[in-house]
Amino acid sequence: MAARSMSMASIRTLLRRPCLLTGRAVNQIPSALNHSNPRACHSSAADNSNKLETGLQYNKENWAPAYPERFPELAHGQKPQILWIGCSDSRCPETSLLGLNPGDVFVHRNIANIVHEADLSSSCVIDFAVGVLKVNHIVLCGHTACGGVNAALGNSKLGILDTWLLPLRKLRQENLEALQALEPAHAIVKLAELNVLDGISKLKEKGVVIDAIEQRGLKVHGVIYDVASGLLRDVGGGEESQGAVKARLAAFKIA
Ligand SMILES: [Zn+2]
Repeated sequence: MAARSMSMASIRTLLRRPCLLTGRAVNQIPSALNHSNPRACHSSAADNSNKLETGLQYNKENWAPAYPERFPELAHGQKPQILWIGCSDSRCPETSLLGLNPGDVFVHRNIANIVHEADLSSSCVIDFAVGVLKVNHIVLCGHTACGGVNAALGNSKLGILDTWLLPLRKLRQENLEALQALEPAHAIVKLAELNVLDGISKLKEKGVVIDAIEQRGLKVHGVIYDVASGLLRDVGGGEESQGAVKARLAAFKIA
């Protein structure tokens, strides 16, 4: 699948506050609430200090006092416009990389951002975000150098993780020739893309998602985050032919 530049225009137009994706200057973002702003960051990847201790101190002295009116407002409820489903990887912090704030993104993250049909945790998150919070967008995000994807491309025994990674191994089986023709780093990206597309298909088979697409135009986006550049790019999966939509609804629509 050809890599395309990230197009998040439909999400951007709905964002209430300035963000990095709009191209606006970082200094337009409330600094204390924006963890993408380097000036608000109290730590770095190369920092070997006790990060929990430093973080707890930062929370008390900088984070909480910065916007005394904003946090009490959030205590009354949330109205996020985006459901983000991503990998648990520490390099993929969804709210930070979108330049957004607390209250903006409802989140589910697991190892290798896998959408399992019968996974109770992700199913509840999707049901609540779409059916109750009525988010306008679902973003399913894979990423480069994903350890879970890399594990599924290997054959080491990993215990319970082997069960979790089964959908990735299935995709590996179905695309074995193409994956084996690639350099290892490229194979990881390719399988991550296939995993996102597979997850989008599964999301669109869920009743609550089908209804929200039909009734209020919910959008589903597939993206890959490049941990080496910090950039998101679209991997498609959002558009379907009329025939594909008809077949999907015939099979999965529950009245
Ligand atoms: Zn990952």
